[in-house]
Amino acid sequence: MSEVRTYTIAQDGQSIACHRCGLTSHNANDVRQRYCAKCGTFHVIRGPGYWQDEVSGVLRPVVEDLLNGKVLSADQIAIMRAYLQQWIGSPVWDRNPFLDAISTPHLEDLRRRVDKITTDDDLEEWLVDADNYGFDPL
Ligand SMILES: [Zn+2]
Repeated sequence: MSEVRTYTIAQDGQSIACHRCGLTSHNANDVRQRYCAKCGTFHVIRGPGYWQDEVSGVLRPVVEDLLNGKVLSADQIAIMRAYLQQWIGSPVWDRNPFLDAISTPHLEDLRRRVDKITTDDDLEEWLVDADNYGFDPL
């Protein structure tokens, strides 16, 4: 049993072609989210990337320092911010059937504030709120 894919990512990774409508998009968000604007649908719902699965080795020591209660450097905070941006930005959260009138503003709040994380306190505050809202990226 083989599944027919509904899209193709170009070899250079810069565009996505939809097999349903024939549209090729060079929009980086469309490529990343496997989205077709013409069809208005995601080809696949990609889960958020978790730090445990990250293979570059850059993120893991930062998360471990964080979990061990160490104060992070500015560079480490920037790495955490990038991680949390992709995590909370995942379209999975928008498709959550439990997303309701209460959790939708929480998600929007977290997405808005994640870009502004620049200090240890910002990071701590964001993670506490995320936890209170039921989001656990760690
Ligand atoms: Zn399409």
